[in-house]
Amino acid sequence: MQKGAILVLSGPSGAGKSTIISAASDEIGEYYFSISTTTRASRQGEEDGVDYFFVTKEAFEEDIKAGNFLEYAEVHGNYYGTSLKPVRESLNEGKLVIFDIDVQGHRLVRAKMNDITTSVFITPPTLEALETRLRARCTDDESVIVNRITNAKSEIKAVGEYDFTIINDTVDEAAKLFVIVAKAARLKQSEEEEEKFVRQWLKNN
Ligand code: ADP
Ligand code: 5GP
Repeated sequence: MQKGAILVLSGPSGAGKSTIISAASDEIGEYYFSISTTTRASRQGEEDGVDYFFVTKEAFEEDIKAGNFLEYAEVHGNYYGTSLKPVRESLNEGKLVIFDIDVQGHRLVRAKMNDITTSVFITPPTLEALETRLRARCTDDESVIVNRITNAKSEIKAVGEYDFTIINDTVDEAAKLFVIVAKAARLKQSEEEEEKFVRQWLKNN
């Protein structure tokens, strides 16, 4: 009876979300990773259409007006948003759709698609570890790092809004836990699908 499900992944920038998805990707079966649209500048090594769709503020605001986003938010002074169309298509194909979005985005997805949504908050073991990893990644300048750390201090307070928490101590262990969460997320059913299933199940009685 499955018609697709959503797995929301949140956590401070530098928590290891991308690293964990890559490490787990062979084990979690077919999924669609929702490529967000953003107005932030691309980092070294990032590709347009792979990591994000990089657009201007004007183009992003046009998409907002056209109603093209399932959700969007301003994070660290830039816009980030999830386009509705590819998500709908993947859900209709029965796929697990994975979102890497911030805590505001999670709230919006919950408000719209709660019944098929599972969520996991990923964090390094400590604030110090986050800072070390952000610096070691060497992708952001000092002011960006300071801004991300400030944001992390408030984002961590939303941890209780999530179904699961994964503490990313070692990548191997965190990826194993992520595979378990992704497998469980696939089992979520929309209310509509559940009702259809029950009707079918009772049909011959
Ligand atoms: P996010 O996608 O959450 O912003 P990344 O996956 O880019 O985070 O990880 C941030 C940095 O931390 C990267 O340089 C990555 O290689 C490193 N990293 C991720 N997980 C670990 C870990 N368990 N131990 C040490 N470094 C890690
Ligand atoms: P980064 O700039 O490090 O790639 O991402 C910064 C933050 O924006 C992260 O917390 C990430 O989860 C969040 N983010 C990325 N894409 C989206 C999106 O489409 N919507 C929302 N709400 N947040 C996003």
